[in-house]
Parts: sequence; structure tokens; C-alpha cells
Amino acid sequence: MLIVQKFGGTSVGDLERIQNVANRVSKTKKAGNDVVVVVSAMSGETNKLVGYAQKFSKNPARAEMDMLLSSGERVTASLLSIALNEMGFEAVSMTGRRAGIVTDIVHTKARIENISPHAMSKALKEGKIVVVAGFQGVSSDGNVTTLGRGGSDLSAVAIAGALKADLCEIYTDVSGIFTTDPRIEPKAKKLDKISYDEMLELASLGAKVLQNRSVEMAKKLNVNLVTRTSFSDEEGTLITTEDEIMEKALVSGIALDRNQARVSLMGVKDRPGIASEIFTALAEADVNVDMIIQNKAYDDTTNIDFTVGVGDLSDAKSVVDRFINSKDIKDDSYNDTICKVSIVGVGMKSHTGVAAKAFSTMATENINIHMISTSEIKVSMVIDEKYAELAVRSLHNAYELDK
Ligand code: ADP
Ligand code: ASP
Ligand code: MG
Repeated sequence: MLIVQKFGGTSVGDLERIQNVANRVSKTKKAGNDVVVVVSAMSGETNKLVGYAQKFSKNPARAEMDMLLSSGERVTASLLSIALNEMGFEAVSMTGRRAGIVTDIVHTKARIENISPHAMSKALKEGKIVVVAGFQGVSSDGNVTTLGRGGSDLSAVAIAGALKADLCEIYTDVSGIFTTDPRIEPKAKKLDKISYDEMLELASLGAKVLQNRSVEMAKKLNVNLVTRTSFSDEEGTLITTEDEIMEKALVSGIALDRNQARVSLMGVKDRPGIASEIFTALAEADVNVDMIIQNKAYDDTTNIDFTVGVGDLSDAKSVVDRFINSKDIKDDSYNDTICKVSIVGVGMKSHTGVAAKAFSTMATENINIHMISTSEIKVSMVIDEKYAELAVRSLHNAYELDK
């Protein structure tokens, strides 16, 4: 078998843990498999480097950030390779560039365009263990890029797809995908299986256990994806097609995203084309807009509320300022002490009352809901951040996810 094994930050968090990873990889190799390993930076390392940059500049050039942040993964890749060599295995570490991961030129959140896996394939043929620095690639114009936070998951899935690997294992600090973040609700239950679509919703709605684009790619390329812990041999969670899952839960999980901010635009001129102008300008500024609500005001204007990631808030503000200056918007306000809680489950497609239960659970806890959005398999609510954990726990309880 050809197996891709990805180890996240905590799994390579110190030298002892890197040795532990080397032992695990060596076992897989000794069992007769070809192995490609993808590693993250040591836990905390990427944040530390971001902090260093901010000591010099509030708004460092994104290309320089990629140069800086990609270094963390090179450290762990080379150290793991050295450890494996010392154990008598032939291992070779590769940067994203050497591994042939070609991306677009959008620094700090680049998309993978294609993978030329020749160097990896050649090393595998020679019996070597390939260790790839995750989270990074090279742009078509030759510069180092990174794939967005949590991007090593995407590196692993993309490599598994390109090499047609039999299995892609994501090793982390929890034993699989749970009904909600087990750090918030200790009663959360581990799922044996979850569908790509549900996992994609959970990941996009804040469950950082898998990066959302990695799930999207796993679905597209049909990658056999398993999430498990590097600290024991416990079985993990299989992420698979909906057809593979016999018992479909009404609600599979609750996700929490603390990284949200709300932008409120008041007195927006009520004329055709205004929404298009505002949201096109936001898109051009690379601001990712999530929920949008528009209401008619008493006068002949409208109010528009939307959410963005906190990281995009200052860019959103600059865009809105232009519309304030041109008098298309009267007033604006910003709130970054909100969060988004979401309920996800394919069973919602065929059942009614799921959303109503979520709202009444919030009512019982006296939590005010600021914004609501729904899709076929999810209900999301924006609430004050101080209620985040209470909301997650009471929803988990209301849908009996601990049973
Ligand atoms: P890594 O460094 O290995 O990439 P991450 O910190 O990115 O690990 O992701 C693992 C974390 O995701 C867990 O420690 C857990 O707190 C969090 N998490 C959030 N939602 C879930 C969930 N539904 N199931 C499991 N873990 C979750
Ligand atoms: N080191 C990067 C991050 O912290 C990528 C990853 O760990 O997946 O976001
Ligand atoms: Mg991660």
C-alpha cells in the first residue's frame, strides 16, 4: 500500500514527539508499505513567527510572510528525516517546491493548481521514505507560498490524490472527529464515520480539526481520509461518502467559530446595483464574506449586516469607508466579540423542527441570536462570544449527542 501520513503541530511539538513520529512511520514502512509523511511546524511555531513579524510591521508584505512561515515546516521535515536515517531507514525531506506543489500567486492563502510528483515518485521507487514540509508550495512565478492556516492537511490530501495513495491518515492530538470539540464538551462522542459533506460543513464552520479545503479536495479526488491520534493506537474516524454511512444521524455535530466579526451598514442607498458594488469591492479586497442580511429601513434606505473573519475586518473597514465617503452608506459599526455556532447533519434534509429546536435551546439559556443562516444540512447562529461554550454545550445536550 501507499500511505500518506500527516502529523500536526502537537504531534511534532518537541524532539521526543518527533522521535515518536519516526517510530510510528518506521512501523508503517517495515510492514511493507510505501510512506509519504507530511509534517506541520512544531505547535506554536507558526504563531510565534507571525508575532515576530508584527513586532516590525502591522501590515507585513504577504510574500515575506510566506518566506517566514514556511520555515517552520522545513525544520520538522528535516529533523524527522534525520531521525529516520539514524534508525537505519532511507528518508529524504522535501520542501513544497521539491515535492512539486504548484500554487497560484495569492500569498498566505494560495490554492494548489497542480502537483508534479516526479521527485516524490522517484524517491519512493528507490525505497525511500519521503518527508514533505506541509503548508507550502511554489507559485507559478517561482515564489514560495503558503496554503492558509492549517494548510498541512491540504498538502497531505493533495499529495495523496496526486500519488493515488491507498490511504491518507491525519494524525492529531484527539482520537478522531467528535460530535463537537472535546475540549469544550468533554461528553462529546467520537464518530466512526462521517460524510465528506458533513465534515466540510463542520470544518468550514470552525471545527479546525481538518482544514476545510482539505476536505473539499478529499471529496473531489476520492481520497480515503482517516483522522486519528498520534499518541495511541486507537482507531480514528473515516471521512467517506454519504452512501457508506448506514445510520444517518439527524445532527452529527456542533461547530464553533470564534474568529468572526460583524459589520453593520446603516442607511444604505436603496437602488439597484448597490449590493453588487459593495460586495464586489469586498471581494476585490480579498475579504471573505460569510452571512449577509439585508433589511428595509423606515426611510428609503436599507440596512445590510454581514460577517467576515476577524483577520479581514480592517480590510473590510477600508472598503466600507469608500462608500461612506461617497455617501452611499450613512453609518457603519463593527463588532468582533461575536461567534458563530452551527449544527450540522445530513438528516436535516428529511426532518423538520431541527432549526426550531436550536432557537428554543438558545431561548432557554437566555442567549440572544443576532443572525441566522441555514442550508440543507446546517443551521448557523451568530451570538455574543461570551456565550460560546454555553451554547455549544446546551445544543450538544438538546440534540442528545452524548447518547
Ligand atoms: P493539528 O495541530 O494536529 O493540525 P489542530 O489543532 O489543527 O491539530 O486540530 C485539532 C483540534 O481540533 C483538537 O485539539 C480539538 O480541540 C479541535 N476540534 C474542534 N472541533 C473538533 C471536533 N468536532 N472533533 C475533534 N476535534 C475538534
Ligand atoms: N503550521 C501551519 C499552521 O499553524 C500549518 C499547519 O499546521 O497545518 O497553520
Ligand atoms: Mg490543524
